[in-house]
Amino acid sequence: MGRKFIVGGNWKCNGTSEEVKKIVSTLNAAEVPSEDVVEVVVSPPFVFLPIVKSILRPDFHVAAQNCWVKKGGAYTGEVSAEMLVNLSIPWVILGHSERRALLAESNEFVGSKVAYALSQGLKVIACVGETLEQREAGSTLDVVAAQTKAIAEQIADWTNVVLAYEPVWAIGTGKVATPDQAQEVFAASTRIMYGGSVNGGNCRELAAKPDLDGFLVGGASLKPEFIDIIKSAE
Ligand code: PGA
Repeated sequence: MGRKFIVGGNWKCNGTSEEVKKIVSTLNAAEVPSEDVVEVVVSPPFVFLPIVKSILRPDFHVAAQNCWVKKGGAYTGEVSAEMLVNLSIPWVILGHSERRALLAESNEFVGSKVAYALSQGLKVIACVGETLEQREAGSTLDVVAAQTKAIAEQIADWTNVVLAYEPVWAIGTGKVATPDQAQEVFAASTRIMYGGSVNGGNCRELAAKPDLDGFLVGGASLKPEFIDIIKSAE
């Protein structure tokens, strides 16, 4: 089976209900390639998931930005995979570098989350990527391999996983990795998205790389140029 292009919009901790509805209406009006060509997934904050899901066009899908590592229960402030499934949320983003850095999510913890989310029937965008210090120290591939291995050790089937390679130094900084830097890290079978300062201006050059199967977009996913990024699938 071919690897279908996938474009994810990670809205992070942004937006009001009015703003979110506005983004959705822009997306709903956009002319983009069909679902056979590009899979589009937008990821609003938890509180906006139900509203976005209810008004979003049916050929686009929603993702949560996180979920808990095991069955729900006495875990104040967390949202379980079961709850996402209950609301028919098909996707979840796990292991984003902001959570790894700010909330100290370890490789093993992220691996466990991926395994649990998959076991409940969710599809997972699993994020990996090195910091600037790690890149400068020449350990990019080791870091990304360790993060990926911690997931691989806990799952057997990668069918419902898309790996998002997001160099931390490229996230929200405007410093996009060169297509060759992105290509260097990509492997063969699982779909791999690139994330980090993707915008309407740089997406086509990146999309031309054969091992790149899509994008995970932060800042630009809140703007109309997200539509140009979706179109770069063609
Ligand atoms: P950015 O974020 O596109 O704003 O750099 C990407 C991400 O964090 O997923």
